[in-house]
Amino acid sequence: MTNLRYLNTTCAVCGDPCRFTIPEAAGSVGSRDLDTRPAEPLRSTIYAWVKRCPSCGYCAPDPGKAPEGVADVVKLPRYRWQLDSRRFPRLANTFLCWSIIQEELGAPAQAAWASLHAAWICDDEGDDVPARICRIRAADLLRRAWEQGDRLTTQAGGDEAILVDLLRRAGRFREARALVRETLEQNPPPLIAEIMRLQARLIDAKDRNTHTVAEARRYKMPTTL
Ligand SMILES: [Zn+2]
Repeated sequence: MTNLRYLNTTCAVCGDPCRFTIPEAAGSVGSRDLDTRPAEPLRSTIYAWVKRCPSCGYCAPDPGKAPEGVADVVKLPRYRWQLDSRRFPRLANTFLCWSIIQEELGAPAQAAWASLHAAWICDDEGDDVPARICRIRAADLLRRAWEQGDRLTTQAGGDEAILVDLLRRAGRFREARALVRETLEQNPPPLIAEIMRLQARLIDAKDRNTHTVAEARRYKMPTTL
């Protein structure tokens, strides 16, 4: 169990006071999922990663701070629609709103992360369709980050590993398979190669479930590509 504490702050957009429950800093024990989702107890603190101002709907890791231009994004019709969309769990909307802010402010890599995190919320709720929508959005934003010369991770092949998992779990098997082949041809670091070989097996089995990096380490059998 993690201990709870509170963050009292003033919303940087509307100026109203707000109070958020936040868990103590938590680590994780065990393997990450293939899309980097950490193990427990960190995994379960996700509800506190992005917070929503109850007055104006500004969503951010710290609503007490607002980069320039945020006040305008929060007023956009697409932001207001997302904030209360019934197609997604409420907490997923909070993450997707933060994703929209990052996208509008020209930070597609951060927007992709927020959209991936929204997918995890949908996974926890058992909402498959919104989870797929979040993953497709994250994949699009990741590619947009690449076009801008930006990446989500610093590790060679790390972004490709995330993108393959996004595509596989969204059911885009053909695209995922092509990326596996392309990445393996580039002679990636050993762990990325192991992940790609596991992904190839999962794609062949049309498996859209969560799998861990530990499984990739166990599967060292060469796969015909
Ligand atoms: Zn506010």
